[in-house]
Amino acid sequence: MQTKILEIDPLNFQLEKIKEAAEYIKAGKLVVFPTETVYGLGANALDETAVKNIFIAKGRPSDNPLIAHFSDIKDILDFVEIDKNLFEKIKILTPGPITFVLKKKKNIPDIVTAGRNTVAVRIPAHPIARALIKESNTPIAAPSANLSGKPSPTDPQHVIEDLNGRVDIIINGGKVDFGLESTVIDLTEKIPTLLRPGPITPEKLREIFGKIEIPEFIYGKAKVDVARAPGMKYRHYAPDKKTILIEYSENRIEKIHQLAKNYKNPLIIAFKEDEKYFSEIDTLISGSIENYFEIATNLFAFLREADKTNNDVIIIEGVEDKGLGISIMNRLRKAATEIWR
Ligand code: AMP
Ligand code: MG
Repeated sequence: MQTKILEIDPLNFQLEKIKEAAEYIKAGKLVVFPTETVYGLGANALDETAVKNIFIAKGRPSDNPLIAHFSDIKDILDFVEIDKNLFEKIKILTPGPITFVLKKKKNIPDIVTAGRNTVAVRIPAHPIARALIKESNTPIAAPSANLSGKPSPTDPQHVIEDLNGRVDIIINGGKVDFGLESTVIDLTEKIPTLLRPGPITPEKLREIFGKIEIPEFIYGKAKVDVARAPGMKYRHYAPDKKTILIEYSENRIEKIHQLAKNYKNPLIIAFKEDEKYFSEIDTLISGSIENYFEIATNLFAFLREADKTNNDVIIIEGVEDKGLGISIMNRLRKAATEIWR
């Protein structure tokens, strides 16, 4: 398949180009587009064959449901059952980097939801994503635009590495803002349950919903509840190389030195502040220990970069499980082949 690359400036775009991409969606084709979280691999959510092709292009297991993306919150009302009170609450958080699991109506095809009676919906804030969905005049089903198992793409170059020749169009809209997939919250039971931590933190969720449940599997401390969080059982975000995560602690520097001795040519992904302790070892900087936003934004890019070097192991410094750190650690624990606590 020949993949067309469409350059579109998110801050100053010609609607003509968006319309061109929307024609592909309407024709049942695959379109990669930027969102504020990561790049998405989209198709018309109401076209079963088109959605099936998403799974094929990514090599994604068919029991891992997709998120349906809408340009306006009001548009979800045709596809989900939701009471007025809850609708008002989710309105506060949209558009934005958060996905709501809700009871679905019949018009959402089973292939999107892996046969469940719930559907995950999101209203992205990214101007290209919103315009594309609007011009396509249909919800767009989209997982992240990477090969299944690989780190999510935060830069158009990552998409090209993984999907060139496997999709019809890649919209190049530059680097994304957050670099972490959306927060996923299940709103089908009395107490909202966090299924995937993301840019919208538990603190923020409590402001809107009051009490929320955070299952142990979010912290890697229990097996994933597959009935509720079907996609989370899979290994994700993973470099091909052996990847060791060092959980945050005061004596992390000593631990890393001890560990690094076991390898010929280790690569440490370190905080800016810690780099000086590893002057004799190869390092990549994850960001500042004072700025989790910076680390989150860079996360998937440095995992991909680390995988391309000739080092024999990746050793990565973890952050604290607080605020955005919960999301960062959730991804790192999934990416790691080994965890040192
Ligand atoms: P991705 O498309 O890779 O960002 O992943 C979307 C994730 O959202 C899936 O892996 C699921 O864990 C979750 N998800 C999607 N639809 C549902 C649903 N109906 N119920 C529960 N979780 C869902
Ligand atoms: Mg993904």
